[in-house]
Amino acid sequence: MAYPASLRSWQGMLAALAMSVAACLPAVATAGGNAAARIVIDPGHTPAQGGALGVRAIHEVRYNDRLASQVVQALTQAGFDASLTRRPDEKISLEERARISNARRADLFLSIHHDSAQLQYLEKFTLAGQEAYRTTRPIAGYSVFVSKRNPRFTQSHAFAQLLGEEMRKLGRPPTLHHAEPIAGESRELLAPAIGVYRFDDLVVLRQTEMPAVLLEAGVIVDPVDEAYVNDHHHQADIAREVVAAVRRYVATLSARP
Ligand SMILES: [Zn+2]
Repeated sequence: MAYPASLRSWQGMLAALAMSVAACLPAVATAGGNAAARIVIDPGHTPAQGGALGVRAIHEVRYNDRLASQVVQALTQAGFDASLTRRPDEKISLEERARISNARRADLFLSIHHDSAQLQYLEKFTLAGQEAYRTTRPIAGYSVFVSKRNPRFTQSHAFAQLLGEEMRKLGRPPTLHHAEPIAGESRELLAPAIGVYRFDDLVVLRQTEMPAVLLEAGVIVDPVDEAYVNDHHHQADIAREVVAAVRRYVATLSARP
């Protein structure tokens, strides 16, 4: 059956309106609604390219996988729709991590990493025949990164602030070494008290379409900080603070008129 042209255009406009409204609505719990916010957790690096090499001669990827899995578990228990970008044995590119999260239409993206420092603050040593690195002065704490190139920068920044605040509650100050005016650092500190930095070029933050944040949970080349993040109970503490930050973030969305 053919509709008159005027009716067809009305239908088209209504369909377009419905689609744009749907695109604006985050899949989060609203007053009386049941949709759980969809959170994608991204364990940084891969088994083949393991990231920073720490004081225990273990690559960063192992720490990332353990913490990411605890965070997904804690988020799921809290009622969120949480998933990982990759399995521990899987190799995927930075671009794929963003693509996967965009395809899942995630409400929030959090990449999990563990930190190192510039070579001038490190010394190489051998541990049970394996290469390892340790700091020559204490460099410890967490940091949180956002990218101004993320299309949802304001929301990303809001979540980064909440995550920084929650992480601070664990009693560890943020590490400020990424703001040092040296090669490889010089990152802009947006909130020194809670460790929020701006790092525009991070691929997983600028190619994701949803609010996106990267957490460096601790410094694995520092003997004291590595001992902290390597502890299963501390990993659970960090996961709990991530959940608290996600809860607070989602609450601000739900409260929006
Ligand atoms: Zn990393």
